[in-house]
Amino acid sequence: MSNSIRVFQYVNFCQLIPMSSVTRGIPKQAESRESRYTVMDLQREFPDAASCLDYLWRSRFAPDGHTAHCPKCKCRRRFHRLTRSPAYSCDSCGHHIHPMQGTIFEKSSTSLQLWFYAIFLMSESRYRISAKQLERELGVTYKTAWRMLDRIRSKLIVDDRVP
Ligand SMILES: [Zn+2]
Repeated sequence: MSNSIRVFQYVNFCQLIPMSSVTRGIPKQAESRESRYTVMDLQREFPDAASCLDYLWRSRFAPDGHTAHCPKCKCRRRFHRLTRSPAYSCDSCGHHIHPMQGTIFEKSSTSLQLWFYAIFLMSESRYRISAKQLERELGVTYKTAWRMLDRIRSKLIVDDRVP
């Protein structure tokens, strides 16, 4: 994993994406404020939806970005990005893998970039950001902001708040 991905300093992003995983009670992450990941880093690393999807693809299925285990071929295969849907297809059998499936981003009409920004803002605020603030920062409706906060809080965050 690229060490430039520090946005999720307080959010154990890759491991906690699956909605089914139990996130509470996981040991605290070591705190380090020395190498701060800024909003500029975030923008550089995730300039568009494709780079966000690629991040999910690499962290969940294909660390090298190209080869992943194909459940249909039952072995490692090369995959390519589909142009018309946020998915990757097996070069050999055409099986599709959707990196957002089974994550908090699944079935959301909000772009991945906004989700990543929301997670960044949340980790920056030590989870104290309100739906109202998120609404303003992201330019989404209050309802959307509230839903995002709720999903991030309940499914993604390692509960390491200072008691
Ligand atoms: Zn295949």
